[in-house]
Amino acid sequence: MRASEDDHIVALATAPGRAAIALVRVSGPRSKSIVRKVFRPWPEPELAARSPVLGRIESESGEVLDQVLLTWFPGPASYTGEEVIEVSCHGSLFIAGQIVELLIRSGARLAEPGEFTRRAFLNGKLDLTQAEAVRDLIESQTLFQARLATEQLGGSLSRQLEPIRTELINVLSHMETALEFVEDEVEPEQNKLLQQRLDRLQAKLSGLEKGFELGQLVKSGMAVVITGAPNAGKSSVFNWLLRNDRALVTSIPGTTRDAVTEMISIQGWPVRLIDTAGIRAARDRVEELGIGKTLEYLASADVVLFVLDGNRSFGAEEQEIWDLVQDKGTILVMNKSDLPQRILLPPELKSSECQKISTSALKGNGLKDLLDAVWREVNLTDAVEKDTFFLTNIRHYEAIVKGREWLTKGMEAYRQGWSEEFPIHDFRKALDAFGAITGDTTVEDILDQIFSTFCIGK
Ligand code: GDP
Repeated sequence: MRASEDDHIVALATAPGRAAIALVRVSGPRSKSIVRKVFRPWPEPELAARSPVLGRIESESGEVLDQVLLTWFPGPASYTGEEVIEVSCHGSLFIAGQIVELLIRSGARLAEPGEFTRRAFLNGKLDLTQAEAVRDLIESQTLFQARLATEQLGGSLSRQLEPIRTELINVLSHMETALEFVEDEVEPEQNKLLQQRLDRLQAKLSGLEKGFELGQLVKSGMAVVITGAPNAGKSSVFNWLLRNDRALVTSIPGTTRDAVTEMISIQGWPVRLIDTAGIRAARDRVEELGIGKTLEYLASADVVLFVLDGNRSFGAEEQEIWDLVQDKGTILVMNKSDLPQRILLPPELKSSECQKISTSALKGNGLKDLLDAVWREVNLTDAVEKDTFFLTNIRHYEAIVKGREWLTKGMEAYRQGWSEEFPIHDFRKALDAFGAITGDTTVEDILDQIFSTFCIGK
């Protein structure tokens, strides 16, 4: 499906705001003739493909709006697959806005969100997963997220799905052929083989589903929860890790009433750093709420930073916290190392395998040790097998779950010896679910596959 002859879209491609350069993009079958109305001088004899030319954008009355660089990307070798013109102008929102308006008056319309990429998909430049990767890449906040999105843009998910779809199409065409020729008895041996192929498909799909759980971790970040007795220096450690002052650092106990969350990136991995209120008997309702939250955060923590005041003795309060966090990936942060050390760890903590890091949030000592310790806990690279595929998109995950459920249903029908029509129906549904991920239609595929196995003349 192609955009209609005169449907041209225009939009600012760069972020709105002041910058050195802004980019206005026009796409449609005759973008050149639209831009030609406003760009002077038009190069003789014609624009060269993909080579920027310097010129002016002029309004209808001949007023010069800006000096710009114009680049022509003839279709189909362009981002959208259509004729695309990019106008690099000076990065004032006003100028870029004027140019967009002028191009609208010249025959384009303002693009809908994502419409350039949508056209790229409709014109077969990208499949759906790649189109979605464009969005993820733009939205990525850490190196790792960007890497995943780049891989997906390169078609990594489609490459994972392709063998699954092909195998399912093979199984389907096999069964449909069997349905056509009912007089041929299906060999029990063949039956077993088919079962095995379906089992392998199931396993692959389960692998992808597992990759979603990991993908979620990558996307939302591991939760690192900071806890400890009041005044141990939790907020100071938090701010120090963050290098900003969002949490209130104060010597009055219990002033961080609810949790404060910030995203940080450790070696390119996203980490959600959560500063909690101290766990202790609440004096009022607000504090109580904060403490309830703390327990919730601790329950869902991937790593706990248990901040201890090295200048204080290890008391009942600390023991209570330890009882709560000892089974978590807990790091003991022995803070206030700049002061005389009075703390004596009870034997069970001393002998515990948890990492113990000495810090002074005040003087800034031990930061690297602490970051390294956190990294050792959050580092997924060891836990993740080499061929783990990270699935980060909920739409893909749901489609895979749906597809696997249809597959299971079909396998069950097949195992129970129901008429082939039943499993065929279910497997088709599974195929539809996978097809929806990449945006492929599946019916054609099955037909192609079936007929390609026929001999000529039949
Ligand atoms: P929280 O209640 O655990 O969040 O503790 P805060 O971060 O609010 O710190 C409590 C007090 O301890 C503040 O006065 C901090 O300046 C001080 N403090 C925090 N870390 C250190 C440290 O490493 N050394 C010293 N000497 N004081 C610290």
